[in-house]
Amino acid sequence: MEKISIMDGIDAIRADEGLCSTVYILSDGVKKLMIDSGNGSIEFGFTPELVLLTHGHFDHTRGVKDGWKSCLKQKDWIFNEPFHVPKDARDYDFEKMGFGKFELEIIETPGHTPGSVCIFERKNRILFSGDTKFAEGGIGRTDFFAGDEDEMRKSLMKIRALPYRLLCPGHGEFEEG
Ligand SMILES: [Zn+2]
Repeated sequence: MEKISIMDGIDAIRADEGLCSTVYILSDGVKKLMIDSGNGSIEFGFTPELVLLTHGHFDHTRGVKDGWKSCLKQKDWIFNEPFHVPKDARDYDFEKMGFGKFELEIIETPGHTPGSVCIFERKNRILFSGDTKFAEGGIGRTDFFAGDEDEMRKSLMKIRALPYRLLCPGHGEFEEG
C-alpha cells in the first residue's frame, strides 16, 4: 500500500492496482472526504465525512463501512456482482459541493456502468475519472454487465470538454492533462 500526495489536501492511497481502486482522500484540515473506497482491503483508521463513489463496482465500493455516509448514483444500485451497493448509500442529490478549499462537481458519465460519474475539482482542475478514463488514452471497459459503448463515447466527449490539468483515475497512473 502506498500513499501519494497529489497536492496540499489531497492524497491518493493505492493498494493492489488491479483488484482495488485508488482511493482519494481530501482534507479540509479537520474532516476528510473520500472519493472511492477500494475493495475493503485498506484500513483507513478514520471515518470520512462522506464517500463519493464514482460507480458501483465492488473494487470501488466495498471499502465503505456500515454507518459511513456515501453517495452512489441510483442507476448503479444493482445487487449482483461485480456491483456492490454499500448498505447506507444514497443517491447523489446534488451536482456541486464545497469541501474546505475544494469545489467538486458531479458529472454524469455513463458507459462503464449506467451510474458512472466523474468528479471535477474546478479550482485546481483535477478530474477524478473513476473507471471512465485512464492515463495514456485508456478508457473503461464497456463489456461488463450494464456497460454501454455508445454512452461511453458521449461521456468521453463530455470529459474532453473539461479544462482539467490533472487526471486522477480509478486505477493506474495519474496524468497531467
Ligand atoms: Zn469499474
